[in-house]
Amino acid sequence: MTTATNTAQAARAKALEWINLGSKRLLIGGEWIGAASGKTFEVINPATEQLLCRVAEADSADVDAAVIAARRAFEAPSWAAMSPHARTRVLLKIADKIEQHIDELAAIESLDNGMPLWFAQGAVTAAVDIFRYYAGWCSKVLGTTVPSDGSTLIYTLREPLGVCGQIIPWNVPILMAAIKFANALCCGNTVILKPAELACLTSIRLAELIQETDLPPGVVNVLPGFGATAGAALAQHPGVDKIAFTGSTAIGKQIVRDATSNLKKVTLELGGKAPNVIFADADIERAVQTAVKTFCGNSGQVCSAGTRLFVQESIHDQVAERVAQVAATWKVGDPFAADTRLGPLISAKQRDRVWSYLGAGQDEGALLRAGGNAWTGPGYFVEPVVFHNVRNGMKIAQEEIFGPVLSIIPFKDEEDAVLQGNDTTYGLSAAVWTRNISRAHKVVRALKAGRLWINTFGESDPAMAFGGYKQSGWGREFGQESIEAYTQSKSIMVRL
Ligand code: ADP
Repeated sequence: MTTATNTAQAARAKALEWINLGSKRLLIGGEWIGAASGKTFEVINPATEQLLCRVAEADSADVDAAVIAARRAFEAPSWAAMSPHARTRVLLKIADKIEQHIDELAAIESLDNGMPLWFAQGAVTAAVDIFRYYAGWCSKVLGTTVPSDGSTLIYTLREPLGVCGQIIPWNVPILMAAIKFANALCCGNTVILKPAELACLTSIRLAELIQETDLPPGVVNVLPGFGATAGAALAQHPGVDKIAFTGSTAIGKQIVRDATSNLKKVTLELGGKAPNVIFADADIERAVQTAVKTFCGNSGQVCSAGTRLFVQESIHDQVAERVAQVAATWKVGDPFAADTRLGPLISAKQRDRVWSYLGAGQDEGALLRAGGNAWTGPGYFVEPVVFHNVRNGMKIAQEEIFGPVLSIIPFKDEEDAVLQGNDTTYGLSAAVWTRNISRAHKVVRALKAGRLWINTFGESDPAMAFGGYKQSGWGREFGQESIEAYTQSKSIMVRL
C-alpha cells in the first residue's frame, strides 16, 4: 500500500471508531441529550448504502429547549461581557482543535456525505481558515461617530442580534457549520444549528471539539433533525432573532414565510446555475481543466458550480471534445481511494433526480458527449455527464441539477454571452476566460452574480463575500458584509 492509502485507511479507522461509539445526541445548553420524543434516525453511507449509526431526531420540543438555553447563554455575563479579545482567543482555539483533527473530520465527512477524502480534507482546512479569519473580526466590529454641531455627540454601537437559528445543507457540511458558527460567534451571538438529516455527523463532531474549548455552555447548540419538523420549528420560533439558511431556493422561500411570525432577520444562500464563459482568445487548456473541476467537484453538489459552460462558437466543437476527454479521466469510485475524483451522490433520490436530466436533455435535442452509463453495484454513483450544443432555454440549462452534469452552450460575442449568461433566475456565481483584460472586466461587470472569477473558477477566500443576486439569496456570508448580517446598529445622541 502507498503512504497515501495508509493515511486514508488510518483516517477512516479513526472516524469509524468515533462513529461506532454509539448513537449521536443533541447538544442543548452544554449537555448531550436524547430527543424529547426519544426518536432517532438512520445515517447511511452513500458509497455503500450501509447504516453508519443512528442520531437523535430533534423536533419542536427540542427547539423550544435549545431556544431557552441559547437565550440564557446570550444574556449570561460569561458570553455577553466577554471581551472581544477573549472571544478571539476562543475562536482561535476552535481553529486549532479543528486543525488537530483534520484527517478524522475529513474521514467522517467522506463516510457520511460520500465526498472523496482529498476533497473533504480541503473543506476541513478551509474551516480552520474561516475560524481564524473571524477570530480577527471580534475586535473590529466598530460603531461610528456622526458629525454634529458640537452641542451633541452622536454615535452608533454595533451589537449582536441574539439567538441565531442556522439551517445548513448536506453538500459540504463541515464548511457550512464553520461559516455559520464563526460568523455568528465573532459578533457575540448564540447559535442553534440544524444540520441536514442526510449528513450531520461532522457538525456533531465539530460541536464536541468546540465543547472542549472555553466557550460557555449554551452558546453553541446543535439539533440534528428533519427540515419539515426541526427546521420549520426553528424558522417559525418567536424566540429566534435570526435565521441563516443555506439550501434550495424553494425551501428558502418557505423560510421567509415562516420567519414572518416574529419578523426575524433572514439571510439566504440558495441555488445557482453559474455561467462559465470561455472566449476564443482564452488559455483553452486551463479553462477546460477548470471547467471540468467545477462541474465534477463534489459530484456537482455545489451551489456555485459552473454548470453552464458558454463557449464562443468558433471553438465550441474543439472545447466540447476536450471537456469530454478530461471528464473521462475523473474517476468515480471509493471516496477513500487515492485516485478517486468523484464519490457518490448523497442519496438514491438525488441520484434518480440527476439521472432524470439525462433523459430530459436528450428529449430536448441536446447532444450527449460523455456519461450516461448506469452504475452497477452499491452506492449512488453517477459518472460525469457532458451535453453539448445545448440551448440556454432547455430544462438542463435552466434548472439546478446538483449533480455532475454540464451543459455546453455556444455563443457569438460579448453581448450574446452576457445576455445568455444572465438568462436565469439564479445569480450566485460566474466566470469569464479571456486574455483581453478590458473584455474580462466589462463582462464580469455585466454578469448578474454575487461572486465572480476571471481566468479561474471556484477559488475561495474567507475575506471574499459570497451570496446571491436574484433568486440565489439574501445577504452575504464571508468578508466584511457578513459582520453586518450578524449585528444590528443602535444610534445614540448625547446633549452636551
Ligand atoms: P437540499 O435540496 O440541498 O437538500 P434543502 O433546501 O431541501 O436542500 O435542505 C437544506 C436544509 O434545509 C436541510 O437542513 C433541511 O433539513 C432543511 N429544510 C428542509 N425543509 C425545511 C423547512 N420546511 N424548514 C426549514 N428547514 C428545512
